[in-house]
Amino acid sequence: MRDYLIVFAVLVLHAVSVRVAPEIGMALSYFFFGAFGVAAGVAAVHRGLTSGRRVDARWLAMALTMALWLCGVALSARQSYVLDNANPAPGDSMFFYIIYVVPALVALSSSPVAARKRWALGIDLVLASMLATLFYVRVFTLVTMEGAAGRPEAEAIAAMLDFENIFLAVIAIVRLLASERQREASFYRAASIFFVSYTVVVGYYNHFVALGDYPDFGSSWDILLDIPFAAWLLAARRGEGHGRVRWRPPVFLVRFVQSGSPVFMAMSVLALGLMVMRHHPGLGVAACAAAVLGIGLRSTLTQVSLVEVESRLTARQATLEGLAYRDGLTELANRRALDATLLTEWHRTVERNEPVALLMIDIDFFKQFNDRYGHVEGDECLRRVASALAGRIGRGEDFLARYGGEEFALVAPSTTLAGAHQLAHALREAVQSMGIRNEGSPYGMVTVSIGVAVGVESPEAGPLSLLQAADNALYRAKASGRNAVASAA
Ligand code: GH3
Ligand code: MG
Ligand code: MG
Repeated sequence: MRDYLIVFAVLVLHAVSVRVAPEIGMALSYFFFGAFGVAAGVAAVHRGLTSGRRVDARWLAMALTMALWLCGVALSARQSYVLDNANPAPGDSMFFYIIYVVPALVALSSSPVAARKRWALGIDLVLASMLATLFYVRVFTLVTMEGAAGRPEAEAIAAMLDFENIFLAVIAIVRLLASERQREASFYRAASIFFVSYTVVVGYYNHFVALGDYPDFGSSWDILLDIPFAAWLLAARRGEGHGRVRWRPPVFLVRFVQSGSPVFMAMSVLALGLMVMRHHPGLGVAACAAAVLGIGLRSTLTQVSLVEVESRLTARQATLEGLAYRDGLTELANRRALDATLLTEWHRTVERNEPVALLMIDIDFFKQFNDRYGHVEGDECLRRVASALAGRIGRGEDFLARYGGEEFALVAPSTTLAGAHQLAHALREAVQSMGIRNEGSPYGMVTVSIGVAVGVESPEAGPLSLLQAADNALYRAKASGRNAVASAA
């Protein structure tokens, strides 16, 4: 609120002082233009350095834009007072009034994808210098240091300024509409306010004051030229808020605009290249080539870095998926993986009418083992049993998993009941033959009991019934005295 009052008071002061002392009205206006320009630039620098943790280069670029504009004002004042030149479009100040947009354009065409890449900055700077050169050549094709040679040249300059300001205003609005975060939105809002008001005001000035019959500088109407800078100053000094913006732009729009913004820079170089083509064909062709190569190189490099990121993410994804399906202790497949495999194998069984065998393997007297030797030994025992079982599985298709606790499950596709029985006995022997001592067991060592079930008889039953059957069989193996194999009845 205080800012608004101060700005308003200064505007009134400008209008009144010009009215009171019309003989020095133009000098007063130059003073106020300079003051507003400096304040706007300082506010931009302040925002750039203080908003967020890192320096926000966009605000600094806008400060540079203000500084270039101030150079234009200084040169205009020099033309009026030192050189006593009344021509409204002397080449030196015109050049600054035109290139002032170059840093702003760099900021408005920045893209977060490549924001932190040095090559992107390099390409931008090459295109920006190209643009400055083109502006220089274009301006001095139309005007001399004294001013525009005639009306058509002055009109061409005014048209170029209109075009450039409208272009910047449109880009700023597009970027504002596609801002997801307050931090971005507050910059693009300030830029939109500035360029829209500047387009209107400078358009009015160029067409009605400089090219029209209205009186020259020095009237109260000069405060119009303060307005864009005053508006920028107020927008830059407003707090930015946090988090997301209230208007939620569609995600596609956000991505499209963010990724596509570097095109604005290339488009400007291309447009200027075409403009200078008639008088400077060599430079025109170079500009067009630079625009195409610049945007092409930029897209290619962005693509390369995205492909890199993607492949890194894919690798990490594979690792994570691997972890999600693996048991951390035994490194066998885990329960989640077992469920998935069981389901696929079951469907295959039904389709091909082939049997699938399921073995439930449970360590005998494991509670006693833990009680006697401790859980650390217990874990080691689980690991050894797991590797004994895994080492015994002959076929690649067989799928061994830790079912939970001290229980394992083996899915053996295309296996008959007889085959499954044979496999179960081999596994039971493999564990026993390791001879891990378990004094809590009547066998004196670690043994397993195995329940066998084969799913073929009732394919409509589903994998759960197979699990149930294998579990029942395991119960019977346990009941028969353990260290045994039993199959579903
Ligand atoms: P049974 O012969 O009837 O299978 O008897 P059991 O003692 O093996 O079976 P029970 O289900 O009563 O006990 C299983 C024990 O396995 C309980 C728990 O202490 C132990 N256990 C389960 N998971 C782990 C594990 O990850 N590490 C260790 N060290 N022990 C485990
Ligand atoms: Mg158990
Ligand atoms: Mg057990």
